[in-house]
Parts: sequence; structure tokens; C-alpha cells
Amino acid sequence: MNLWCVGRNYREHANELGNQIPDKPLIFLKAGSCLTESRHIILPDWAGDIHHECELAVQVDGEGRLKALALALDLTARSLQNELKKKGEPWTLAKSFTGACPMSPSVPFPGMEQFSALVFHFYKNEEITQHGKAADMIFPLPILLSYVLKHFPVKNGDWLLTGTPAGVGPLRRGDRLLADIPGMLSVTWDVN
Ligand code: ZN
Repeated sequence: MNLWCVGRNYREHANELGNQIPDKPLIFLKAGSCLTESRHIILPDWAGDIHHECELAVQVDGEGRLKALALALDLTARSLQNELKKKGEPWTLAKSFTGACPMSPSVPFPGMEQFSALVFHFYKNEEITQHGKAADMIFPLPILLSYVLKHFPVKNGDWLLTGTPAGVGPLRRGDRLLADIPGMLSVTWDVN
């Protein structure tokens, strides 16, 4: 199972990290084995600051059709990623540590029209830190999907993470997290 991810897909998030707006999707991978359905997030002790990036995630079948929707956390060792970026090195060390992709339970994919109207929220210790709207994506889902299907060997059960809105920030041990798509799904995590 692969985790296809897109970077800088929301304007305000690209701005908050000082990144250019891309002219085509910026795709990177997290190792499939990073995915976890555990509600307990364990921060690696060697990685420095770990940021949450709450994202809409969709799962594809063998024909590239969308079958499920979930919320994923694209956990990122931010200062490490900044060092890697500066040196032009791959982001793997910052993006693919054990447990780097907590995933909510999934629901059936609601259809492209309903997807494009979705909003989602991420709360840290009961304070809202991320508020995303699928309509704000720089590359909307149909474009992302056809881009990924064109360039990569997408397999049944793979996930596509569609990028994070603004409001990313560090996790600390003891944090309590909640993410939701109102009326559709809700998930909590604790940070250890
Ligand atoms: Zn991300």
C-alpha cells in the first residue's frame, strides 16, 4: 500500500512556510508502513519538532476509482525537513518515521461533487488550529488524481493525501487532538 502525498496544495499554507506556489502538483511519498489506525501518537525522540498536517485522504481501487475518504495526519519533523530542503535532499527522514501517518476510520467516498464542498477541522487541546475547505485546493482532487494515475503505479488500496491547509504546528506529549468532517466523521488522538 502506497501513500501518495501532495505538498503546497493550499495557498495560505505554502505562504506560512515561505514556499512558492507550484505550477504542477508536488508529489512525495510516505512509506506505506507509516500508516497507523492507532489513536495514540508516539513522537520519535530523535526528530525534534513534529508538526501536524491534517489532510483529506482518499483511497483508490484497482481501476483508479475513489472508494473511501478519511482524515490523515501527515506528521512532519519540521526543522529536519527545513534542513533537508536547504540541502536539496529528499524529505524521507522528516516524513516517513514510524507512525508518521495516523489515519481516521474511513467512510465511503461521497462523490466528487460532495467532496469539493467538504470542510474539515483540526483541534489541538480544544483549540481549532486548522480549518480546511476542499474548494481551496490549488489542484483540485480530479486533477491530483489524474496526475498521480498518469505518473505512478497506483495500486488498489493506495491512499492519496491531498495537502494541508494553513495552521500547522508542533505536537507535544500530552496534547489531545480531534479532527472532523462535520456530519461525516470525527476522530481523536492523544500524543505520547
Ligand atoms: Zn502534508
